[in-house]
Amino acid sequence: MSLLTQEHELVRKAAREFAEKHVEPIARKMDIENYYPREVIREAGKLGILTPTVPAEYGGGGGDLRTAVVVLEELGRISGGFSLLVEAYGILFADAVNNFASKAQKEEVLPKVAAGDKIGAFALSEPCCGSDAAAIQTRAEKRAGEWVINGEKMWITNGLYADYYLVAARTGRSEDRHRAITLFLLRRSRCIELSPIEVMGVRGTGTAGIKFNDCVVGGDDVVGEVNGGWKILMHTLDVGRVAIAGVALGVARGAFEEALAWARRREVFNRKLVELQNAQFELAEMLAAVESIRALTYYSAYLYDTKSQEFMLMSHVTKLHAARLAVDVTRRAVQMEGGFGYSKESKAEMFYRDAKILEIGEGTNEIMKYVIYRYIEKNL
Ligand SMILES: Cc1cc2nc3c(=O)[nH]c(=O)nc-3n(C[C@H](O)[C@H](O)[C@H](O)COP(=O)(O)OP(=O)(O)OC[C@H]3O[C@@H](n4cnc5c(N)ncnc54)[C@H](O)[C@@H]3O)c2cc1C
Repeated sequence: MSLLTQEHELVRKAAREFAEKHVEPIARKMDIENYYPREVIREAGKLGILTPTVPAEYGGGGGDLRTAVVVLEELGRISGGFSLLVEAYGILFADAVNNFASKAQKEEVLPKVAAGDKIGAFALSEPCCGSDAAAIQTRAEKRAGEWVINGEKMWITNGLYADYYLVAARTGRSEDRHRAITLFLLRRSRCIELSPIEVMGVRGTGTAGIKFNDCVVGGDDVVGEVNGGWKILMHTLDVGRVAIAGVALGVARGAFEEALAWARRREVFNRKLVELQNAQFELAEMLAAVESIRALTYYSAYLYDTKSQEFMLMSHVTKLHAARLAVDVTRRAVQMEGGFGYSKESKAEMFYRDAKILEIGEGTNEIMKYVIYRYIEKNL
């Protein structure tokens, strides 16, 4: 049984054509120059690729989570950076706004963000705490009917260029941890201080440190309920874990294709590299890993799309394996290409660096295991 419909395959065709035509030419520029592809983002907006799950009435792709995975896979096959940028934009920001924001908030934000005219970013992590998100220190205090936000976020993808930020802030005592966190919609303004962060992979994604200095927002800018942010964050991150596995699938597939092409043209000891059994076994390992990521990722997306109870566990299982396997496949691709694989001429080294973030962002491997063990403790 295929988990993908004809509609998903049509999206795949469009996303693949888009990636090859628009992303391929700037993939290396993003990586080497840390170039943020503002114009290509607008082009993606025209196709609904930026926000695959946002309803068509707001200008999004109108698809399900499998649609988003298809898009992220195809983008990741060409550029891990572009795929991650779209994942943070279309899922962590836009899908969350679509699922939890008020009608007025959605009407203001989604059409512009879906079109790529305005950029959205999801701002949870802080210098103090990424894994321990319930310990965040950014504060929102109510003064004369308005909220005043102060604090610092870190590692925010698209953060340097965002027009809208979905910000998690503490609205109660630190001891109350996740019970005192609220989400706010902030518009870019002078109270927001941005600083670029240089990263090892997924470059050109506008990674930023952000300071909020007395940012004033109204009650209408609360997303969801006051002190109800945790539920939104957990839902969004669970979905994001499957989406980021889609990025992993694309990156692993891109590295595999690159290694296969190399092994077929490289000659060693008067033979094609691909004729050596070790190279064949390496390619077999790589394809086996790619197909394992594929099976897990589309299955988990299908569980979400069909509202299955299994989804929560499987999103963590999928993220853990997909990230690890993507790092493994890209490492093997570099090895297959020898010195070339270590050079900037090869895409394998870029994929290798891009893959590493997948073991860290949206919950580290260790946090995936922490959650999976909690499931064991509770259910088995
Ligand atoms: C390129 C990039 C893009 C990102 N984009 C975003 C974004 O758009 N929005 C956003 O909000 N955040 C973003 N992040 C932040 C990312 O989600 C965090 O870096 C991640 O969650 C880890 O948090 P940390 O860096 O604070 O590490 P820490 O939490 O300090 O972890 C350090 C180490 O300790 C381990 N550890 C922590 N707790 C436990 C535990 N209980 N048991 C076992 N081991 C543990 C971790 O696994 C890790 O190995 C991004 C990060 C990067 C690098």
